[in-house]
Amino acid sequence: MSSKKITVAIAGNPNSGKTTIFNALTGARQHVGNYSGVTVERKEGTRVYKGYEINFVDLPGTYSLAANSVEEVVARDYLILEKPDVVVNVIDAGNFERNLYLSTQVVELNVPLVLALNMADLAEKQGLTFDKKKLGKFFNAEVVSTIGSKGFGLNDLLDAVIAKSEQHDNSSSEHLINYGEDIEKELEKLADIVDREHALAAKYGNRWLSLKMLEQDPDIMSKGHKQEVLDAVDSSIAKLDRIFGDHPEVVIAEKRYGFISGIFGQCVTLTAQKHHDISDTIDKVLLNRILGLPIFFALMYIVFSLVFLAGDPLMGHIESLFEWLSGTISSFWPADTDSQLKSLLVDGIIGGVGGVVIFLPNIVLLFLAISILEDSGYMARAAFIMDRVMKKIGLHGRSFIPMVIGFGCTVPAIMGTRILEDRKSRFTTILILPLMSCGARLPIYSLIIPAFFPKEWRSFTLWIMYIIGIVTAIIAATILRRTLFKGETGIFLMELPPYRTPTARGLMIHIWERSWLYLKKAGTTLLAISIVLWALSTYPKAPDDMLSGLSEEAAQQTSLQYSIAGRVGTFMEPALKPLGFDYRVGTALIGALAAKEVFVAQMGIVFSIGDADENLTADEDSSLENYTPLQKKLQASYTPLKAFCIMLFCLISAPCVATLAISKRETGSWKWATGQFLGLTLLAYLMTLTVYQVGSALNIGTGSYKTAAQVQTPTTTDSTTTATKPLPINNSSNY
Ligand code: GDP
Ligand code: MG
Repeated sequence: MSSKKITVAIAGNPNSGKTTIFNALTGARQHVGNYSGVTVERKEGTRVYKGYEINFVDLPGTYSLAANSVEEVVARDYLILEKPDVVVNVIDAGNFERNLYLSTQVVELNVPLVLALNMADLAEKQGLTFDKKKLGKFFNAEVVSTIGSKGFGLNDLLDAVIAKSEQHDNSSSEHLINYGEDIEKELEKLADIVDREHALAAKYGNRWLSLKMLEQDPDIMSKGHKQEVLDAVDSSIAKLDRIFGDHPEVVIAEKRYGFISGIFGQCVTLTAQKHHDISDTIDKVLLNRILGLPIFFALMYIVFSLVFLAGDPLMGHIESLFEWLSGTISSFWPADTDSQLKSLLVDGIIGGVGGVVIFLPNIVLLFLAISILEDSGYMARAAFIMDRVMKKIGLHGRSFIPMVIGFGCTVPAIMGTRILEDRKSRFTTILILPLMSCGARLPIYSLIIPAFFPKEWRSFTLWIMYIIGIVTAIIAATILRRTLFKGETGIFLMELPPYRTPTARGLMIHIWERSWLYLKKAGTTLLAISIVLWALSTYPKAPDDMLSGLSEEAAQQTSLQYSIAGRVGTFMEPALKPLGFDYRVGTALIGALAAKEVFVAQMGIVFSIGDADENLTADEDSSLENYTPLQKKLQASYTPLKAFCIMLFCLISAPCVATLAISKRETGSWKWATGQFLGLTLLAYLMTLTVYQVGSALNIGTGSYKTAAQVQTPTTTDSTTTATKPLPINNSSNY
């Protein structure tokens, strides 16, 4: 008889019932030997079923595959090197969580898996019910219930084994466990280096090998590695050690437990009471059906209050530094010269780059807060809470993780969508991610909000900007999932890691990386763009006779409108007018396509060009508020409604070029990137149009936030910002 042969390994914890099941399946057809070189018993047996000759191997029982004992090494090597057709993982369902620790490691070996939830009788007594369909999806496995001692469910098990062996999809579940940004980054780095050890890498796979080396697996470490590999591993371990204040080994194990808790939370229903630890108790409150969401939004509110309250005084210091710098540079020239170099330095560079760097404290504080929430384990809970909301819109809670990363920068967030295996969910998430207000928009809010909103409303306004982004994203996702990306939501695993106190060093490293990126961008990209924008906003110069006889304010406006940027802005003005924007905002919006911060830089340039010398000196008026010169000029030119519309447009509209490039790369086509660009810009236009028109009609925020006496209309001379000296540009004696 030419039956098909299947080799099946039975793995599981000691006393999970492996041998009972093995005996029941194979009866007398067994033979016992030893694994080569060690005295561990190797039991094999055969069962003929439905035309298949199935050869079972009863592996030694282990709690883990960490190579702490001979049994673990034997079991692991068998699974990796002898490549059985199917692995049956026997699980003591009454000790589900503890048993899953082994399962998470078996899954990482990327073997065709059948989970046998054995001791189903004991589990039932404990009041545990399992969602086998969900479990199967998480583990990419067939799942059956068995009672080994009564021979119950064994035919189901055999059917599952055959089904799995016939299934040749290699949709791997090896990435089931994502170890978090920090560890994944090191794993990716190591995988490239480990790849050079061809023999080992080919045997074990790059990722798995790297993971074991991060864990300092004694068996893998003893295999003899090239020095460059060992060095790379050491430096990765040292780095992770600094971030977590703990060995990567410990953190990796914790992550596994996190996933197991997640699986338990999602796949197991408890009808009886179970034990609690501290994490469980805290989760009772934080994950509460009713309280969960309000707590999440309240925490976000606290974060934004912190950004403003603690950020303000720090900002003042950086501001004075730039004032001093621009004063010092200005003093190199006689007061009334019309030096282009001076204008470039003071208006272009300090006005542009300086205007952005001022907001560094806000960036630092925002990332401090986000890092604390992430490192403590709360963000994983947030994803869990959001799951209920996300499900309703056709996405999974796991999509929320890239969304949170999106608060920092959309580019890594889009890369983070790789954790979503289902293409439709992934594309939807990529398309809506730019709506999560990124760090580069924060300077725009930080400039505008304090200038136009009373102190007690500032945190709220900032919070509202983020909420508008989230809500718009949710609505957009719902629409996308019902139209372009129709289909069932894939099922994803979410983790519930134990809470841990964030380490100071870990926080420092995260903040440092963020701040350094921000400063580097300011010093390179923004510097270059500021110089270009300054030139575009300065040249060509309006001829003298056009300016002569005009008031200082009018002359400034005329010369700006005469420049290239001014002309482009003026050209756009008819389209922007219905949104409440003028040509100056238009020029800044174009600049913002390069990077969102440029909006602030360009407003700084536009409002300081042609201004008198002391343009960066904050005046010491009697008011308690300490506005920057730029903020005062904005107050003079726009109303709170217009200011809000500017922020709204910047939030929703076309993402920056870096985002478009990464969208193209991750979706594999310009089609989606272009669609994203056009779609979001159109959406921004419509939303801003509605808000501005409705706001104007209802007279909301159309008056000045400051009292009328302090601020006048932009066309007349503004008392709070006017310099006393004549504009150099207006001084024809210079030509
Ligand atoms: P192994 O260490 O994984 O090989 O576990 P064994 O097969 O030796 O089983 C350990 C104990 O669990 C034995 O006393 C079995 O009779 C018992 N056992 C196995 N399966 C079940 C089951 O489904 N329900 C119950 N109640 N007991 C079981
Ligand atoms: Mg046994």
